[in-house]
Amino acid sequence: MFNAILIEQHERGQRACKTEIADERLPAGDVTVRIEASTLNYKDALAITGKGPIVRSFPMIPGIDFAGTVESSDHPGIKVGERVLLNGWGVGEQHWGGLSEKARVRGEWLIKTPDEISSRDAMAIGTAGYTAMLCVMALERFGLSPTSGDVLVTGASGGVGGISIALLKQLGYRVIAATGRPTEETYLRGLGASEVLDRKQLAEPGKPLQKERWAAAIDTVGSRILANVCASIKADGVVAACGMAQGLDFPTSVAPFILRGINLLGINSVTRPRSERIEAWRRLGQSIGGLQLDQVTRDIDLADAIDAAKDLLEGKIRGRLAVNVQR
Ligand code: NDP
Repeated sequence: MFNAILIEQHERGQRACKTEIADERLPAGDVTVRIEASTLNYKDALAITGKGPIVRSFPMIPGIDFAGTVESSDHPGIKVGERVLLNGWGVGEQHWGGLSEKARVRGEWLIKTPDEISSRDAMAIGTAGYTAMLCVMALERFGLSPTSGDVLVTGASGGVGGISIALLKQLGYRVIAATGRPTEETYLRGLGASEVLDRKQLAEPGKPLQKERWAAAIDTVGSRILANVCASIKADGVVAACGMAQGLDFPTSVAPFILRGINLLGINSVTRPRSERIEAWRRLGQSIGGLQLDQVTRDIDLADAIDAAKDLLEGKIRGRLAVNVQR
């Protein structure tokens, strides 16, 4: 038996609770992992609360991330006792996920946890931090460097935002943090932001071309803010867009793209090939000392994940939540 959060569907909607589950109910897969830590991402919060169509089949154990040790393996590349982690692949959506003491998955979804990173820290990073690294790598592939100019990060007090700031700062960029929580200014400056911008300045409908302000941006919120960000990027600049915390819409025109040569890079962590995942985690391991995970992360117990999901969607959580699945 193992403990997990289970989401079940009833006539009047869905319900999530912590419960004990028999090992025989684990889904098909060639590797079984004893999970040591998990986390709560925005997507997990949507799944647990039912506020977004994340769960594809019920009952479902949510959790798009986990880190732990291999308990049994029929996969040629993965040995019993190895430390592994998983991000995405539809886990926690269509295959039982990480908010659990155990998972059974396909071996090709797992990557080895870098030596520098403990299971808890891997989950303090989680899909949010891995996505922040994918955004940074996409900006670098585009040719961005610290001499290009300032980089804006939106949704700065959130998980992707906080780790993006710390990563960019460590790489030598001057970072501007846009937040709806000006009270978090000290925290954001502590992570490495040189300026903190009230997101109200970016939230109203604006002209498609505005004053040129930043060389690049990592956007975690979408909607009007992304439109205003694209309108304010310097000519030939670049935006890595990964999130939709404000909304899925994108009310702009082609003007920033055809009149200023702005480039918009879409980031989808779920579909990244294995080689890019391994590279992102290698670099996260290399950067671990500068990620300020103790500043960014709060540790919670498995049972707390249900209430925390509501708080996360209401914008009440700062940074990242690491989940101790054994408590
Ligand atoms: P968090 O909830 O931790 O952070 C989101 C932040 O967005 C909040 O902290 C808040 O920051 C800001 N925000 C919240 N509501 C609004 C609003 N109505 N308008 C403007 N800003 C708002 O989530 P994550 O950082 O984990 O994820 C951020 C986004 O990225 C989510 O949409 C998530 O689904 C997406 N994502 C996408 C991935 C991908 O592969 N593309 C992978 C991981 C995440 P503040 O208070 O500072 O303004």
